[in-house]
Amino acid sequence: MGKEVDAASVVEELRTVFASGKTRSSKWRIEQLKGISRFLTEMEKEICEAVREDLRKPFFESFTAEIATVKRSCAETIKALPKWMKPEKVGTNLLVKPASAEILPEPLGVCLIIGPWNYPVFLTLEPLIGALSAGNCAVVKPSEVAPHTSALITRCLPKYVDPDAVKVIEGGVSETTELLAQKWDKIFYTGNGRVARIVMAAAAKHLTPVTLELGGKSPVIVDSTVDIEAVAKRIAWGKWPSNNGQACVAPDYVLAEECAVPKLITSLKANLKSFYGENPQKAEISRVINHVHYNRLTGMLQDNETLDKVVHGGETDENDLYIAPTIVLDPPEESPIMQEEIFGPLLVVMTIKGVDQAIKFVNSRPKPLALYVFSNNKAVQNQVIQETSSGAVVVNDTILHVAVSSLPFGGVGESGMGAYHGPHSFNIFSHKKAILHRSFKADNGIRYPPYTTKKQKL
Ligand code: NAD
Repeated sequence: MGKEVDAASVVEELRTVFASGKTRSSKWRIEQLKGISRFLTEMEKEICEAVREDLRKPFFESFTAEIATVKRSCAETIKALPKWMKPEKVGTNLLVKPASAEILPEPLGVCLIIGPWNYPVFLTLEPLIGALSAGNCAVVKPSEVAPHTSALITRCLPKYVDPDAVKVIEGGVSETTELLAQKWDKIFYTGNGRVARIVMAAAAKHLTPVTLELGGKSPVIVDSTVDIEAVAKRIAWGKWPSNNGQACVAPDYVLAEECAVPKLITSLKANLKSFYGENPQKAEISRVINHVHYNRLTGMLQDNETLDKVVHGGETDENDLYIAPTIVLDPPEESPIMQEEIFGPLLVVMTIKGVDQAIKFVNSRPKPLALYVFSNNKAVQNQVIQETSSGAVVVNDTILHVAVSSLPFGGVGESGMGAYHGPHSFNIFSHKKAILHRSFKADNGIRYPPYTTKKQKL
């Protein structure tokens, strides 16, 4: 950035804009949300093309996951904003009466949003909706790993929102490092845990609050009470058509009861065939983002003990950044594929004896972002919900919780800190200010010194 953009000046400029008060009115906030929505409508084709350049993501997938989702979010936020902005009346007590109390959401100030590459529009603009609906100024830093989308957002978004209050800054590690050195009122980061630690350390210097949207290995638990064909279809859909597994909530590994495993594998394969035909490389399916991730994933696959366990797929083509949708059955627990987040087209199926073993397995690892349980047994569903910890649980499906904006979306432990979407986005970008209104009508003399013996007896 150094040469082109001076991070300190950008922040200073935004501080002046924020101090002017222009971002506080509901009118201004709604205009920004309408602007984001118009950007998505008018630039729909260009956005889908940029995402395709970066990820070979099919247009339909970009339209649904990058565009329609964010537009719906704008519309929902516009509708609900007057209610969210209203001070919330709360009760008081005898000690302070006569009085009234309320909680007033106020904007935090100047916010930094650092986006990832895998859903480069959705995961950059969705937090921006939160920041602007709450009345903040913001700097958006899209991921350099999706360069076409990053360039498009930088070039075009400012035409649709207030360019004085919203800045888009492109860049990689050095630019982000320079941005992180500034004093922010909020940092919202989506990405991996290693960088999250860098972000949090930078934020600590200024006591800046952070929201960290991270990842991890999201498990699927399958017992023997369910229709395995229906389950396989939902797992396959959550894994491969969702950016070819490059999604933070993609099923990472499946823990399936022994008797369900053969049918599960057969059905997963059948679904892959019906989605992509005999040769998925010729089908509409996202590619691995770049050579770094390609090498990471093929490294996992080529681990000696894992390679033997491939029961489907496994084909690779580096020139095309292609790794076939692949199923690996029962790799060793210590193998890289079972130690690291996969974040790609490989799916592991592990055979387990029962739900107790599955819960123990999940609990022996970092808390996941999402956990999926397939069972028709209510007791099993409840046991999994009660005895595990994760950002979210979906019963009898995968990844759909992301689409429910009333649910907070975020992780716990190593999968993240804080949650957003819908009202939760507004909340994390607001300070809930406590306000107590007192009247002069009555004044209880007891509180004032001198604290006489008579007073102490009251
Ligand atoms: P990435 O490489 O795009 O990095 C994310 C952001 O971090 C980028 O803007 C990048 O410029 C910045 N960055 C990279 N190195 C940095 C450094 N040293 N200092 C400062 N900033 C730096 O994305 P990624 O991390 O590869 O994303 C994949 C991870 O993100 C996975 O773990 C995935 O599960 C997680 N993820 C989580 C969510 C969620 O909503 N919880 C969504 C998507 C991805």
